[in-house]
Amino acid sequence: MSAGPQGTLFDLCGGHPALDLVNSLDNRFREDGPNEMLATYADLLRFLEESGLLDRQQVRALNKTVAPEAAAKALQSAHELREATAAVFYGSLDGKEPRQQDVSVLEKHFLDGARHRELQWGAVKSGSAPPAKSAYARAGLAWGWGRYANEPNLPVWVLAESVSDIVLSPDMARVRTCAADTCRWLFLDTSKNHTRRWCNMKVCGNRMKARRFQERHDQT
Ligand SMILES: [Zn+2]
Repeated sequence: MSAGPQGTLFDLCGGHPALDLVNSLDNRFREDGPNEMLATYADLLRFLEESGLLDRQQVRALNKTVAPEAAAKALQSAHELREATAAVFYGSLDGKEPRQQDVSVLEKHFLDGARHRELQWGAVKSGSAPPAKSAYARAGLAWGWGRYANEPNLPVWVLAESVSDIVLSPDMARVRTCAADTCRWLFLDTSKNHTRRWCNMKVCGNRMKARRFQERHDQT
C-alpha cells in the first residue's frame, strides 16, 4: 500500500518477486478501482531491477532498444501473467481451486519462458559456499538468457520463471494476505509460528493499531 524506501518506487515487502508482482496492482479490491503501478514498460523494467531480477545494465539496454509497439505488447503480456497469478493465489487463499483458464495462462507463460533460455557453460553462482580454489571448480552448466537477453519479452520470461518458482514449490502454502482489508497484499509468511499478519508493519500494522487505539478510546 505504499511506495518503497527512499529512491525506490516499489514496496517489495512480499518476500518473493512473484508476490510483489501481484501487489503491483495496488488497491486491487478497492471499489473505485485499483492503482496500476506497472503502467509503462519502463515501470516494468524498474520493478525487475528493484526486485533484483534484472541488473541495471540489462534494464538500460532494453529501455534504449525496445520499440514502443513491442514494449506495449510485452507490458500487456506481463499484466496477463500477473492477473492469472493473482487469481490463483487469491483463489487458493479462499480455498478455491483455480479456474482452468488461469492455469492455462500460467502454463503458456512458463513454457514460453523455458523455451527462451540457453544452457551455458560458465561461472556458476556459488550461493553461500566459500569461494572455490580453482576457476574450474566454479564453472558449470547453468540456464541463462543468452541470445534472448535483448528481446522485448525478457522481463515477462523472467517473471514467469519467478512465478513458476513459487507456485510449484511448498512455499505456495505459506502465502498469506495482509489482514488490512483495504490492502490484501500478498506476502510469504516466513515467521517461526506463522503469525505474520501485515504486508508491511510500518504501513498496515501501524494503521490498524492506531484504529484499534481509537476504538478503545471512543468506548471510554
Ligand atoms: Zn497491507
